[in-house]
Amino acid sequence: MSKIRVRFAPSPTGGLHLGGVRTALYNYLFAKQHNGDFILRIEDTDQTRYVEGAEQYIINCLKWCHILPDEGPHHPGEYGPYRQSERKNIYKEYADQLVKSGHAYYAFDTPEEVEKLREKLKAQGKFNVQYDYQNRLNMRNSLVLPKEETESLLKINFPHVVRIKMPRNEYVHFKDMIRGDIEMPTDGVDDKVLLKADGMPTYHLAVVVDDYLMKITHAFRGEEWLPSAPVHVLLWKYFGWEKDMPQYAHLPLILKPDGNGKLSKRDGERLGFPVFAMEWNDPKAGVVKGFKELGFMHEAFINMLALLGWNDGTEQEIFSLEEMTEKFSMDRVHEHGAKFDFEKAKWFNHEWIKKSSVARLKEDVKKIFEQHNIPIEDEKKFEKIIELIKDRCTLLNDFVEQGSFFFIAPQKIDTASILQKWNENKNQFFVELIRLFSLLQSWEPGEVEHTFKELAAAAKLKPGELMGAFRLMLVGGKFGPGVFEISSVLGQQETINRITHALSSLQ
Ligand code: GLU
Repeated sequence: MSKIRVRFAPSPTGGLHLGGVRTALYNYLFAKQHNGDFILRIEDTDQTRYVEGAEQYIINCLKWCHILPDEGPHHPGEYGPYRQSERKNIYKEYADQLVKSGHAYYAFDTPEEVEKLREKLKAQGKFNVQYDYQNRLNMRNSLVLPKEETESLLKINFPHVVRIKMPRNEYVHFKDMIRGDIEMPTDGVDDKVLLKADGMPTYHLAVVVDDYLMKITHAFRGEEWLPSAPVHVLLWKYFGWEKDMPQYAHLPLILKPDGNGKLSKRDGERLGFPVFAMEWNDPKAGVVKGFKELGFMHEAFINMLALLGWNDGTEQEIFSLEEMTEKFSMDRVHEHGAKFDFEKAKWFNHEWIKKSSVARLKEDVKKIFEQHNIPIEDEKKFEKIIELIKDRCTLLNDFVEQGSFFFIAPQKIDTASILQKWNENKNQFFVELIRLFSLLQSWEPGEVEHTFKELAAAAKLKPGELMGAFRLMLVGGKFGPGVFEISSVLGQQETINRITHALSSLQ
């Protein structure tokens, strides 16, 4: 069997949506599982939708997700160029070949004429308002015009497109790796434009020609392309390449949380969660945050995405990229759309933070601390802190809230809640505590705790209330890990300083 080759073929039109990353991920997993090649092809033939910077952004997202392609514009292999706009001169000969074999034709109708047809069909109450077998013979194209007229129009380069001549009353069959045998009628499909007036191919022509020339063996793409599949299957046949046609898999949609339709960028804005992998700086709409900036680990992000539409048949939910590569199978991808659940996405991240090593977390948390101007002078201390607080962090950004007080003394202490039950006895307790703490030889959490509790017992005070006040003095609020652990990491002098400072503001 020939080498497995799959492709992710995004159009560089903006931010990379969850669904796009999942398509890339499934391609990657399948390729790696079969020791195949994963190709990135940039489908930029629609110049009106092209957005500057989107290609590099896509590559950055794949890099962040650790699913970099083996071939692509950034890393060309033998099958380049990998941008369709740079392959423009390849497509025309294929379009001409189809005209010659009678499967396509030149259409010289102006956009106004095509619009008029639409209006007319609409006025007649027709269901299919499109250029197809029912009306192609009333239009201006090479099926109708005398041969000489077509030739002279082509000679003067009269603006024209090439359209596929969709057959009537035929059924197209193919096997989808997720949906099984598919039979679709050709009748509902219009005579799609294959080559545009500017010489650029449309998606339909380019995808078939490129999948062929790039020796693609499996084509995984979003379910929204299923209605176009008959056009593509016919093109493979008309070119005489049937035996090389890739195996298709049309991936289910990622749905809105309520299951009502496809998850869109606007849903994210409306419901307050990201839909892009990484921050996208849209030249028109401005900056849109992504999962990365919100504090997702890439391991968690792709794990969550893989499970949106696939499982390995067991209850297991946490998978590393390596494990997914081993266990992934297209026939376990669901046929129906998967509802996106942001709370569940955060659950994945929390699980990943808990299971990750301090060394792994350090890479990301360090960057986040730097962005917040939190100085990390002592690496060992930083590592201890990560270990201490990681179970409390759902997002990587939570490390700031949970950990910054270790490095910067709290600016504001919630004195009001200490004062509620404050009295002279408690004040005396902390004054004495400072004295005892300064005499301690060891600053292990157990030692700190022992000193604290002994003094509380001697003063006949309840340790619970005192510990609450102690926490507020060290942290500024009612959160964080065990207070003696905190104190131990903060160090002897810093603990004493914070108690002293708090006592002075309680006077
Ligand atoms: N350019 C298409 C898209 O962005 C690719 C579809 C395909 O993979 O065939 O959806």
